[in-house]
Amino acid sequence: MDCLFCQIIRKQIPSKIVLETTSVLVIHDINPKAKVHVLAIPKQHLVTLQDITEQNQSVIGELCLAIKTVTTQLGIADSGYKVVINNGRNGGQIVPHLHMHVLGGERVQGIT
Ligand code: 5GP
Ligand code: ZN
Repeated sequence: MDCLFCQIIRKQIPSKIVLETTSVLVIHDINPKAKVHVLAIPKQHLVTLQDITEQNQSVIGELCLAIKTVTTQLGIADSGYKVVINNGRNGGQIVPHLHMHVLGGERVQGIT
């Protein structure tokens, strides 16, 4: 695939990398909506949660483990943070490659 995040994963587009594992890349969001705003992105091209299957479901755990590591590394684990997945049009998804937003470093507003 040639989507924006696939190109970032292939390093064809530069990004500020926080963590890279065999299956996940965590980068700083280019337009942060909180003091700390990073994106946890599976290297496999999946568009939304609708693409999760019995076979690839481990990627969700891998994203969560990466988030646990980077939030500790960035010093926001104890103060807390919000994790958001935008899915599709009504979810407000812009980039069609599954990713988890991680927002923290200050009180983050949400709808719940
Ligand atoms: P979505 O609405 O698809 O869930 O969020 C996409 C996110 O990707 C947005 O927060 C946006 O700021 C971020 N983003 C868009 N283009 C780039 C880019 O080229 N580099 C980085 N690091 N983040 C980007
Ligand atoms: Zn992609």
